[in-house]
Amino acid sequence: MKLVEFTNKGIYCVPGKFYIDPWRPVDLAVISHAHGDHARWGMKKYLCHHFTKPILKHRISEDIEVQSVEYGEELNINGVKVSFFPAGHIVGSAQIRMEYKGFVTVFSGDYKVQDDGLSTPFELVRCNEFITESTFGLPIYNWLSPDQYSEQMKTWVSKNREQGKTSVFIGYSLGKAQRIMKSLEGYGKIFVHHSIAKINEAIESSGIQLPDYETVYFNDDLKKLDQEIVILPPALLDSNLIRKIPNRATGICSGWMQVRGSRRWRSADAGFAVSDHADWNGLLETVKATGAEKVHVTHGQTEVFAKYLNEIGISAEPVKTIFGDEETEEKEILENPKTSAESGTLKADSKI
Ligand SMILES: [Zn+2]
Ligand SMILES: [Zn+2]
Repeated sequence: MKLVEFTNKGIYCVPGKFYIDPWRPVDLAVISHAHGDHARWGMKKYLCHHFTKPILKHRISEDIEVQSVEYGEELNINGVKVSFFPAGHIVGSAQIRMEYKGFVTVFSGDYKVQDDGLSTPFELVRCNEFITESTFGLPIYNWLSPDQYSEQMKTWVSKNREQGKTSVFIGYSLGKAQRIMKSLEGYGKIFVHHSIAKINEAIESSGIQLPDYETVYFNDDLKKLDQEIVILPPALLDSNLIRKIPNRATGICSGWMQVRGSRRWRSADAGFAVSDHADWNGLLETVKATGAEKVHVTHGQTEVFAKYLNEIGISAEPVKTIFGDEETEEKEILENPKTSAESGTLKADSKI
């Protein structure tokens, strides 16, 4: 018997009778983390990690039914032992471990092996079958350490200050924005767009301490931003709002910035390759270390990464899912800000 099946509603745990990160309404949705492509509206009941619960409610609705658990806590769902393990991707992100009659399948969700100082660090889970992501599954993707990219960002902020400029960082409101805050902690006053402030509040409600910040509303007198640090979501790049900030330098934070071609991304003065996903080595080391004899590769470089795994003797196959990705979303916005803003993919973030 198959423990999981890939269906048109999402990843289905057959004996457990539940879905993981489903994209159509189901009775029980086991949620790896609160990004929009993994946590959708319309489920009868949600199951997630404690830290994800307030973020989920903020993003979907206060009225949804959510049960939350601790990392490592084991639940029995229709005879399947289900537990959550840290995925290190964003606060509250989890890998989902399922065990049935001694056979173990792990769904990675999105993961990052680098410790960002905010998310619970990634924990390796050994398994028979591993469902991995492959967003950055090409050897060209190699991240700097948090200390290194923090140094890069600080140097850029200093340079901007010397030129009388305000440093505006562009990063996704859930995950990236908090990483930017962490990297610049103590390096000056940090202002965030109110969509980021709302997420910050949801995160802080779990007792997680974020660096100090102030919320910026564009109706305020923006003089106070002068030469300071400002963090805005990607939808605001090339918007009328960002133009209200005089003397600004714009820096985009995204894994895609690693590629030289990314320089063509408009209106940015700098790019920082900071990602909430594992880089090539992170993916590879993890897949090997799980000991899985079967690997399914979802979102990103599925074909290439699965092919490579097969070449090194790990049985793998690409799986079609409709997980987009916050970073894929970022990429679309960066490449074509106008159309993406209009298509409303980041509606919540585009409000003033
Ligand atoms: Zn994600
Ligand atoms: Zn994703």
